[in-house]
Amino acid sequence: ADTRVDVVVLGAGAAGMMAAIRAGERGRSVVLLDHAKAPGEKIRISGGGRCNFTNLHAGPKNYLSANPHFAKSALARFTPSDFVAMVDRHRIGWHEKTLGQLFCDDSARDIIRMLLEEMRAAGARLHLQTEIRTVEKTLSGFRVETSEAVYDCQSLIVATGGKSIPKMGATGFAYRLAEQFSLGLIETRPGLVPLTLEPTLLEDLAPLSGVSVDAIVRHGKTTFREALLFTHRGLSGPSILQISSYWREGEAVSIALEPDRDFLELLKTARRENGRQAVQTVLGQYLPKRLAQHWSERLGLEKPLADLSDKVLSSLVSALSDWQIKPAGSEGYRTAEVTLGGVDTKDLDSKTMQAKAVPGLYFIGEAVDVTGWLGGYNFQWAWASGHAAGLAA
Ligand code: FAD
Repeated sequence: ADTRVDVVVLGAGAAGMMAAIRAGERGRSVVLLDHAKAPGEKIRISGGGRCNFTNLHAGPKNYLSANPHFAKSALARFTPSDFVAMVDRHRIGWHEKTLGQLFCDDSARDIIRMLLEEMRAAGARLHLQTEIRTVEKTLSGFRVETSEAVYDCQSLIVATGGKSIPKMGATGFAYRLAEQFSLGLIETRPGLVPLTLEPTLLEDLAPLSGVSVDAIVRHGKTTFREALLFTHRGLSGPSILQISSYWREGEAVSIALEPDRDFLELLKTARRENGRQAVQTVLGQYLPKRLAQHWSERLGLEKPLADLSDKVLSSLVSALSDWQIKPAGSEGYRTAEVTLGGVDTKDLDSKTMQAKAVPGLYFIGEAVDVTGWLGGYNFQWAWASGHAAGLAA
């Protein structure tokens, strides 16, 4: 038999649960469907199990989208402090780690528990392990046929996320549904993802695997200053994950190692004070030892400092402050934290997330062409877009 409800939400992740809460609080009957065994699996594994649930500084500038203005309205109407207020109401301890990033003191599971309690209080029902078979437009809304039941609803909110981490059930379902309803799609690609190197460079850098260093990583006009990590596959660490969302195949990134150090001055002083020292010894005081060794070998500077001219020192220093690396590729959706691109914001109303040409149909969260930086911005978009749709659906 058909089940009539006001709102069906597809996908019980961060965005879908927030939308279900808001719609339920308005007295709408809400059903939330997910094919997974548990809700909010990405919340559970996020932030190393502590969930970086928002960022104090979240604003439109922290997001990539074909239309950088689209996210403004939703982000303004549900802010990081609105989410923190909910976390505080549930007495969940949190702390700022760095750069405005807020984490749970204890466990990401606290956030999932909070959302489930809010859903219960709002009367929203959750059905897990439910396969979505078909979605059709009806005269009064939509018909959703699942492995368990057939739902007739006025409003349909699509919150099934992106393509990242297929092992956790990411499907690209939202994009197919958008196509079914003739909404535009912005080409998708993996974001916040480690970058790989071609074999010879990788072999060259192999001794550095495991080394972490403070760096400014640059691509065009975009720069990030955070840690950079050398791995056995290539480059990772927050600065690389950040720049990966901007980088495109075939392009180079520029890396400045330990950007606060005036290496030229330090090397000249060292040469004056003790010319018999090796470059590697001096650099090793300011850079991880293995990195210092790598640079002095790479540039053939295994002579005493006294034998090196100002010009040679300058070229070493430019190599350290503008190291051009051409990544071979990225690790792809297997390890990407997010999916760039998605449902074209041109076809959505920025206040409600409703499809302009299909009244009652909403797209929220990662499925939409709005992608945040690393640091809690993606969850903030999930909460804010879920809030916007939940108030309208
Ligand atoms: P999701 O959370 O992906 O939820 C989508 C839901 O839809 C899932 O429950 C899925 O099972 C369900 N679904 C998918 N397809 C179907 C289908 N066909 N039928 C039925 N159900 C379906 N962001 C941060 O801001 N801070 C962090 O600390 C952080 N850490 C991360 C760590 C990792 C390892 C990863 C992978 C991501 C991290 N992110 C983080 C990004 C963040 O998790 C996502 O941006 C966010 O979860 C997107 O929310 P969403 O609700 O749109 O989609």
